[in-house]
Amino acid sequence: MGEFELIRQYFAAAACARAGGDVVLGIGDDCALLDVPAGEQLAVSTDTLVAGVHFPESCDAYLLGQRALAVSTSDLAGMGATPIGFTLALTIPSANPVWLAEFARGLDSMAAGCNMRLIGGDTTRGPLSMTVTVFGRVPVGMPLRRSGAQPGDLLCVGGALGDAAGALPFVLGERESDNAEAAALLRRYWSPQPQLALGQALRGKATAALDISDGLLADCAHIAAASSVSLIIEQARVPLSASLLACVGPEQALQCALSGGDDYLLAFTLPPAHLPDLLADGWPVQVIGRVAEGLGVQLLDAAGGVVNTARVGFNHFND
Ligand code: ADP
Ligand code: MG
Repeated sequence: MGEFELIRQYFAAAACARAGGDVVLGIGDDCALLDVPAGEQLAVSTDTLVAGVHFPESCDAYLLGQRALAVSTSDLAGMGATPIGFTLALTIPSANPVWLAEFARGLDSMAAGCNMRLIGGDTTRGPLSMTVTVFGRVPVGMPLRRSGAQPGDLLCVGGALGDAAGALPFVLGERESDNAEAAALLRRYWSPQPQLALGQALRGKATAALDISDGLLADCAHIAAASSVSLIIEQARVPLSASLLACVGPEQALQCALSGGDDYLLAFTLPPAHLPDLLADGWPVQVIGRVAEGLGVQLLDAAGGVVNTARVGFNHFND
């Protein structure tokens, strides 16, 4: 199969490759053409996944397609942007029809859920890797940046954390995944659902936001640094799923939530006055702490004492 036939069959023919919405021209020309409505700005982000580094070489192609798109699209959620489309730069060792069909099917299902369109890409031969670049739009002045957190704001997250980190031993085949709890964690790892609607609902309300990809402590440190504030996290308020608790127990579950990555849920700071409306509208907002004067991230135990994150082995955070 030649390169052009491959692109046509598996990508240009995919449902997600149809033009529409803000995509004026999709796959097939030298460039795609996007419409950005007056008063809005283009939001752009790119992520690369490399076999053996970001996913096991032998993993399921359908799940990989889903995850590759979700990981990148989550950055649009973290910015409060509305998705427009994405490009796919794919490097494959060989043109395996079954693999390509499954990978494209995974992309397609995640694209449908995120209202994303495949607008172009590049296809090359080499060790398996993929780069997804996402494009979105956001009204001028409304992007959720990392730099606006204010002392007095609440620190919030968009759901239970740590499931993806809890799934890692199953992903890597180090542990048997033969029960419903493990299956639930694996779903969170392979099919994270970017919180696009929540991000858009937080426009004009959250003072800072990002999507959690490196773990709660590390990502909160990014907001703290960009905003020149201190973020105080109450350990007892960090939401943990029943599946995670069942699989790894309370101590490790907390560790997964604090330092494990790959959750792709939003963390954001919110003036307290906005909380009641968001909760009344049913948004998954969980308050885990607050913003204070100072610099950095502080973790408090149930008694209000400062937890030494270095001593309890949150290495990633201290790197
Ligand atoms: P060029 O020679 O201009 O780089 P290509 O031959 O690489 O063009 O690609 C032809 C068309 O197919 C372009 O519109 C490009 O965006 C698209 N394309 C190539 N690879 C992919 C892919 N993996 N997924 C989606 N579109 C792709
Ligand atoms: Mg090319």
